[in-house]
Amino acid sequence: MQYETRFCTHCATPLALLTQAEDGGDVQRLRCPACGWTHWNNPTPVLAAIVEVGGKVLLARNAAWPVKMFALITGFMEAGESPQEGIAREVKEETNLDVRSCTLVGAYEFLRMNQVIIAYHVVAEGEVRLSPELVDYRLFDLHELKCWPAGTGYALADWLRTRGHEPVFFTAEENAERRRGLDQPAAKD
Ligand SMILES: [Zn+2]
Repeated sequence: MQYETRFCTHCATPLALLTQAEDGGDVQRLRCPACGWTHWNNPTPVLAAIVEVGGKVLLARNAAWPVKMFALITGFMEAGESPQEGIAREVKEETNLDVRSCTLVGAYEFLRMNQVIIAYHVVAEGEVRLSPELVDYRLFDLHELKCWPAGTGYALADWLRTRGHEPVFFTAEENAERRRGLDQPAAKD
């Protein structure tokens, strides 16, 4: 669900589009006419993990996704944790696996959701038990993996290159088939 910020989080006054001088010049943003609070609308950090377990890569399917759509483990960063702690927590919560090592792959935009994806490669151990949020998972050999044209898919591609595999992306048709049913509720974008 998309939310729209309409009221000041400090004093509950309705926000207005107001122009104000900032470091980069005059900028129009939603601001509070009463107390001066600015709605910066900064991107939200999201953590993503390429989970390697027993030499294979685990991709999982969210309960809300179409049957062919498998992707990285992701989750929002929480207050008070480092990104490395956050991704280890997410991997444990979503798969029950214990993260043994964690290496940054890169940071990627996800403009449509106003998020920035911080992607890690993690080596994990244990017995997979999915959280209720996830309904299925698959373990892939590196040469079987196909990447998708979005932030986490580019992270997977960048990581595969570091392992000596030239990434293969889904064709446009394959990607449409993979995502079929996903975009319908939000057809306006
Ligand atoms: Zn205010």
